[in-house]
Amino acid sequence: KLLMSVKKVSKTYKTKENELTVLKNVNLDIHEGELNVIMGPSGSGKSTLLSMMGLLDKPSGGEVRLLDEVVSTHSHEDLTDLRAEHLGFVFQDYHLVPNLSALENVSLPLLLKNEMSRRERDKLSGELLDSVGLSHRYTHFPSSLSGGEKQRVAIARALSNQPKIILADEPTGNVDTETEMKIIEIFQVLKKQRVGMLIVTHNEIFKQYADHLYTLKQGELEKVV
Ligand code: ADP
Ligand code: ADP
Repeated sequence: KLLMSVKKVSKTYKTKENELTVLKNVNLDIHEGELNVIMGPSGSGKSTLLSMMGLLDKPSGGEVRLLDEVVSTHSHEDLTDLRAEHLGFVFQDYHLVPNLSALENVSLPLLLKNEMSRRERDKLSGELLDSVGLSHRYTHFPSSLSGGEKQRVAIARALSNQPKIILADEPTGNVDTETEMKIIEIFQVLKKQRVGMLIVTHNEIFKQYADHLYTLKQGELEKVV
């Protein structure tokens, strides 16, 4: 099943002096249970593409479809709701809230959704921390966690609203090899759960796990596998 697609997407940034076209005619599909990997040098447009797919910014041309619906023309408020309902984000620099514990960070999206009791939220968040190997870190604050632990908290948080799609920007950027393997195992489990994933990375290790591999060069996306 097709979860998300990018069709003929272009993006041009306009400043006072000039225009810069950062994405050119990009096409990309995310299917259920598939791991899609994009590699490309700095400045090639990876973050820009992620923000289009994350419904954080709108394309200059073309469209983004989510579950068969064109969403790139929706209002800001609509996009916020769609993000909360369907998407999970993992950032290179974690984006954890410093004055909340690991458990509270994972619970945050659930709290914002306001559909569960405190007890239910804590239960699910605890299970998610268990699933990323952090049963012993519930009450720890981000400042007392290692980089790899912070990244796993961030992954658990991205999963807490049970998204159909995970978008990850360099998810193994600041972690050791052991954590890298744990993160890859988490992605493998998500594949079995039919989550569709898009990972933007410089890490060559993802090549062997990718169902589809792309390279982005100067705004042009090329399918390698
Ligand atoms: P590089 O240029 O080394 O490839 P990236 O382009 O991956 O680095 O990231 C540049 C910065 O932009 C990072 O700090 C990253 O966390 C941030 N970033 C990337 N994508 C998004 C996004 N969709 N929303 C918010 N921040 C993002
Ligand atoms: P990557 O993530 O691959 O490093 P980015 O998507 O961050 O690439 O950036 C691609 C190009 O777009 C870069 O030349 C960058 O300077 C430019 N760019 C990114 N965001 C903006 C913006 N908001 N306004 C103008 N130029 C931008």
